[in-house]
Amino acid sequence: MKIAVIGAGVVGITTAYELRLQGHEVKVFERNSSVAQECSFANAGVISPGYVSPWAKPGMAWNVLSQLGNRNAPVRIAGLGIPEMVWLSKWWRACDSNTFTRNRKILLELSLYSQQRMQEITKRLHLDHDRGQGYMVLLRGEREQALIKPSLELMRSEGLELKTLSPSEAIEIEPALNTQNKLLEAIYFPNDEVGNCREFAYLLKKEAENLGVQFELNAQVQNLAPSQPLAIQLLGQSKQEMFDAIVVCTGLSSAQLLKPLGIHIPLMAIHGYSISAAVREPLDAPRSGVMDERYKISITRLGQRVRVSGSAEIGGDPKKHREQSIKTLFDVLDHWFPGAARTQENVQIWKGSRPMLPDGPPLVGPSGIKGVWLNLGHGSSGWALSCGSAKAIADMLTKNQAEIEMQGFAYQRLG
Ligand SMILES: Cc1cc2nc3c(=O)[nH]c(=O)nc-3n(C[C@H](O)[C@H](O)[C@H](O)COP(=O)(O)OP(=O)(O)OC[C@H]3O[C@@H](n4cnc5c(N)ncnc54)[C@H](O)[C@@H]3O)c2cc1C
Repeated sequence: MKIAVIGAGVVGITTAYELRLQGHEVKVFERNSSVAQECSFANAGVISPGYVSPWAKPGMAWNVLSQLGNRNAPVRIAGLGIPEMVWLSKWWRACDSNTFTRNRKILLELSLYSQQRMQEITKRLHLDHDRGQGYMVLLRGEREQALIKPSLELMRSEGLELKTLSPSEAIEIEPALNTQNKLLEAIYFPNDEVGNCREFAYLLKKEAENLGVQFELNAQVQNLAPSQPLAIQLLGQSKQEMFDAIVVCTGLSSAQLLKPLGIHIPLMAIHGYSISAAVREPLDAPRSGVMDERYKISITRLGQRVRVSGSAEIGGDPKKHREQSIKTLFDVLDHWFPGAARTQENVQIWKGSRPMLPDGPPLVGPSGIKGVWLNLGHGSSGWALSCGSAKAIADMLTKNQAEIEMQGFAYQRLG
């Protein structure tokens, strides 16, 4: 089949690669001049299946509301217009325990599948991107310990490997961790990883090109037309190109692109930040990744750089940086790894927008319109879910069936 993939973030690139492996003629359209320039650009890089969990969970709504006045709250409402209110009400409704349990189960299954696929691809193609093994969650006090307890019990019951560590045990794994500051205990996930999403996307793009995938950059696809949904027309061009199938991987822009087809996707931009700075002294830097549970801020080592990432802003201007959120990232880095990075010079400050659906799981599968497929809405875990979603959609498109159950990722679930 001749297939168009729209969007070259990590989801589009992995999708194009898998489709090509299955023998299709694949062309990728990307509106930017390079790939992975939007949400896949500078995310935290964490691959932690236990943490790939819906935001819509029992107690979460109360948790967000109770922190509204806290300027360091991990989740903030920065603007509340009608789209935000509609989305929040859908999210609220999905916070019941049945919906959560179902979505958590399928997300865990997809993320484990995805991690395995990513490891296979990385090994087979010798992709040399910045990576680290293991992930540690730092609990400052009793409050964090109590809040995280139900999640840990769930993770244990799901068979995930995790260990509770005392501060001195934590230092054996992360020797630069500053335990002069109060650390009650740490939870260690030895099978989790951190990796550079953008670098992986670049390397895999090259491999896909070597296999014959075409990338058309600076190519913005116009909204899809109901009369001919498989005809791609680019902004500023009059000619159309016909395909046998298209896969929409346009992250946050997907709702607009698909609206003319009558496909309504309740996506919300959940903005977050990262700062990336050169390692100053490797002995003072983390070896892999840690997360400060109180602030939900992760600190990851990506080769010669340290990246600190966090914050979830609902609404507000995607381009406007909130100084306090960025300051908190610097503060948390300084708290746990003082002197690790050159924070006075050439720090890359990034604001990205997670393409989030109200109930959590992404949409991976057919759209209901013949030939139009969806791989979008991966929210806060698109890097961790990318390789599994891509393999599953390629299998569904080619063989009618994925290797894992994908019913819960269908568009139809949104009613
Ligand atoms: C602060 C932050 C931290 C995060 N940390 C993690 C993490 O630790 N682990 C994790 O798994 N995930 C994390 N994420 C989430 C992850 O980054 C995203 O889920 C993922 O990057 C989404 O990938 P994507 O390819 O769907 O979207 P994008 O990377 O946004 O790609 C979509 C692409 O489509 C293109 N496009 C859109 N419309 C058109 C059009 N009409 N024509 C042509 N091209 C178009 C865009 O230009 C873009 O390149 C984080 C996100 C943020 C913001």
